[in-house]
Amino acid sequence: MTSKTAALTSPQNIIVASIILAGAYGLYASSQYSYLLFHSFAEIFSIVIAVSIFLLSWNARRFLLNDYILFIGISQLFVGLIDILHTLSYRGMNIFLGYDSNLPTQLWIAARYWQSLSFLAAILFINRKLKPGYLFFSYTFILALLLASIFIWNIFPVSYMEGVGLTPFKINSEYVINIIFLCSLLGLLWKKERFSSVVLRWMILTIVTSMLSELAFTFYIGVYDFSNLAGHFLKIAAYYFLYKAIVETGLVKPYALLFRDLVQSEESLRSSRDELQRINDQLTEANKKLLEANQAIHAEMEVRQNAEARLVEYAARLESSNQELERFAFVASHDLQEPLRKIIAFGDLLKGKSVQGLNESEKGYLDRMISAASRMQKMIGDLLELSRVTTNGQPFEKVDLSHVVSEVVSDLEVRIQQAGGSVVVDELPVITADAIQIRQLMLNLIGNALKYHRPDVPPVVCIRGKVEQNGKEKAGQIRLEVEDNGIGFDMEYLEKIFEPFQRLHGRSEYEGSGIGLAVCKKIVERHQGELTAVSSPGSGSIFIITLPLNGIRREK
Ligand code: ADP
Repeated sequence: MTSKTAALTSPQNIIVASIILAGAYGLYASSQYSYLLFHSFAEIFSIVIAVSIFLLSWNARRFLLNDYILFIGISQLFVGLIDILHTLSYRGMNIFLGYDSNLPTQLWIAARYWQSLSFLAAILFINRKLKPGYLFFSYTFILALLLASIFIWNIFPVSYMEGVGLTPFKINSEYVINIIFLCSLLGLLWKKERFSSVVLRWMILTIVTSMLSELAFTFYIGVYDFSNLAGHFLKIAAYYFLYKAIVETGLVKPYALLFRDLVQSEESLRSSRDELQRINDQLTEANKKLLEANQAIHAEMEVRQNAEARLVEYAARLESSNQELERFAFVASHDLQEPLRKIIAFGDLLKGKSVQGLNESEKGYLDRMISAASRMQKMIGDLLELSRVTTNGQPFEKVDLSHVVSEVVSDLEVRIQQAGGSVVVDELPVITADAIQIRQLMLNLIGNALKYHRPDVPPVVCIRGKVEQNGKEKAGQIRLEVEDNGIGFDMEYLEKIFEPFQRLHGRSEYEGSGIGLAVCKKIVERHQGELTAVSSPGSGSIFIITLPLNGIRREK
């Protein structure tokens, strides 16, 4: 047994089929007893279904896929009304007195026209919006005209003649109605994609059964004969099929759709919940990692803080031992000078008194001893000078560099003239610094620039200064340059020349002790600045000093 056959023979279907058969038989039995009773039952049944169809389609209009069904539903109300009149006017009812069987036949044919034309017109509303108010209004108007043409004006064509039977109008009308039904069927098939397959099936059945019913009615002669009976059965069937179509579109489908939506919402809710759970898990995981990272950072910070504290401690210790060393150097150099002075003085005395008693080499020894002692005295003096940079530092004040440099230049005037040189000074800024040390710095640098000139080229010294405006790091600094056209030096020895007693040129050519630049470096460092140089042998040198504009005093 196929699943389809199984579905058809389900207990529910068997019960429904039994009820339908029992109803049909009951109707048939009633026709045997009284055809009027059968007719009334059959019509009442189709009227009840018509009104139900109207109510159903009206209330389900929001769920309808298109307004075709709504149009048919509304038209059923009017068809039902005409069918009520048809039932009440049937022969034997004796309600409309003075009328023969023509009246129910006229009402019948009017209802069928109405029915078939409505099916045809409904096609227009498959793709169009229906305004139910307009339809009600126009249908009421047409109904009033129709009833007036039958009951008042008597202009509705005669459809039945007692003793003769159906008039050609009635019979032809049934054919016309069938043609209209056929057109409506074709129209429906033309737009079939706008219907679900179930609804389409019920609608096709409705129209085909209606057509068969109409055909049956073309054959009857008496209003009580068999084809009339069959026509009524077919009409009930057509109504039933229409009812099924409406129930399918208006109830079953919307609920299925609603249910599907519900299932979908539930599914999407469930997946959202799962997604949320997943995000939550990820968040918890991320949180854990964050916590771990935080702990690691804390631990790292602690290590760094400890290291920093240790560094500060070391720096403090270094500072104090440096100070101690410098004090020692100061005291030592100071105290060493005295015995040296004595060695030189007594050496000179000895040289003066016993110069005749000494041979040439002994005189030479004495001279070398005195000159070594003098050099040592000079070195000790220089060391003292170096240590004084920190021990004798003065508080910072406003220092006009132009003023300082012009003083230095005038102090060096004799040397400049002797060398036939010149010093060019740009406009220089005012800085906050130790005035004495800045003077010492400029004296050493300008002095060197004059000293290390090429033998045949008179020295030209340029002093420039500018306040740095650009660059995050450099803004607020001043840059001083002391440039000369002298002998220059190899940049390989750049570090060396700033170390105490380091000299690149022989003492015989250029006198000096090699402490001047070490003092300069120390002074600049005390001002939190930097000292460097750019040079090449034979092409002169530029000594570059960068200092904070508002000097911060570095206490040592
Ligand atoms: P000193 O001039 O007494 O030798 P410095 O410390 O001033 O000592 O200089 C160290 C060395 O740097 C010098 O011996 C010299 O070789 C080199 N130097 C310094 N200034 C210049 C300069 N303007 N041009 C060339 N070399 C220089």
